[in-house]
Amino acid sequence: ATPMSVMVGVGKAAEYGALIRQGDALQTAGKLDLVILDKTGTITEGHPAVTRVHAVNGDENRLLSLAAGLEQHSEHPLAEAILSKAKADDVQADRVDGFEALNGKGVKGNFEGQPVRLGNRRWLETQGLDLTPLKGAAREITEEAGTPLFLAHGEQVLGVIGVADAIKPDSKAAIARLHDAGLKVMMVTGDVDATAKAIATKAGIDDYRAEVLPEDKADVVSQMRGLGYTVAMVGDGINDAPALAAADVGFAIGTGTDVAIESAAITLMRGSLHGVPDAIEISRATVKNIH
Ligand code: ADP
Ligand code: MG
Repeated sequence: ATPMSVMVGVGKAAEYGALIRQGDALQTAGKLDLVILDKTGTITEGHPAVTRVHAVNGDENRLLSLAAGLEQHSEHPLAEAILSKAKADDVQADRVDGFEALNGKGVKGNFEGQPVRLGNRRWLETQGLDLTPLKGAAREITEEAGTPLFLAHGEQVLGVIGVADAIKPDSKAAIARLHDAGLKVMMVTGDVDATAKAIATKAGIDDYRAEVLPEDKADVVSQMRGLGYTVAMVGDGINDAPALAAADVGFAIGTGTDVAIESAAITLMRGSLHGVPDAIEISRATVKNIH
C-alpha cells in the first residue's frame, strides 16, 4: 500500500469512529477471517441489572445485604448491579472484611467470623457447597440470558441472585454484516454455558466459548491463529488486554478500560460493533486501490 492510500484509509476509518493507532492494522483488517468478541461490555451494554433475588429461606433482604457487603469492595460490573439493587430496595450493606476478588470466579470476605462467598456455581461447588436446592431458580435466570450468582455464608447456602445485561441495540446487525462479509464470528466469556448460549443466540452468533477464565482468553486467540485464521479480538475490559494484544488486530471498545485501549491497534470510539465491519470494508477498499 502506498503511504498516501493508507493515510486516506486511516482518515476514512476515523470518520466512522474507528481510531487506528497502529499503522499496519488497516491493511491487516482486510485479511481478517475470524472475529472473536468478548461478551460483557462488548456485545452487551456492560451495565447489568439485578433481575431476580431468590433466598432459600425467603429472606431476600438478608441475601442482598450480604451480597452488597461484598460487592461494595469490588469494581466488577456485576458489583454495580448488586449495589444499585440494594440501594433501590433500601437495603444496608453488611460490614464484610477481608475482601478478596477471585478472577472469573467471584468475591469473598468475612462476616461475623464466617467466610462469605458470592460467585458462580463452579467455584462454590469446588468449595464443597451443595447448590442443588437452587437449581430451578438458577435455570430460570439463565433462560432469560441472566447470570446466576450464588451466595453462601459459612457452610450455609443462602440463595441466588440473577444479574442480566442487555445486548447493545446494534450488536446483532453488526454481527450480521461480518457474516455477510464472509467472516466467522465467535464469542468468548467467563460466564456459564447456558447464559453464554442465550446471549450468543440473541446476537446471531453460532459459535461461543463459555467459562473461559480471564487469563485464558488470549489462549483462545492463539489457538485460532494456530489453526490458520487471521483473527480480530474485540474487547473492553482489563481481562481482555492480553487477548487484544495476541490477535492479528485488536479492537478496543472506546468506552472500555484504558488497559484494553492501550493493548489494541484500533479503538472503536462509538462503542458500537459496527466499527469492526466498517474498518474491514475500508481496509479492503484501500488495499484494492493500490493494486
Ligand atoms: P466476563 O468474561 O463475562 O467479562 P468475568 O471473567 O469477569 O466475566 O467473570 C466470570 C464470572 O465470574 C462471572 O460471570 C461471575 O460468575 C464471576 N464473578 C466475577 N466477578 C464477580 C463479582 N464481583 N461478583 C460476583 N461474581 C463474580
Ligand atoms: Mg468485557
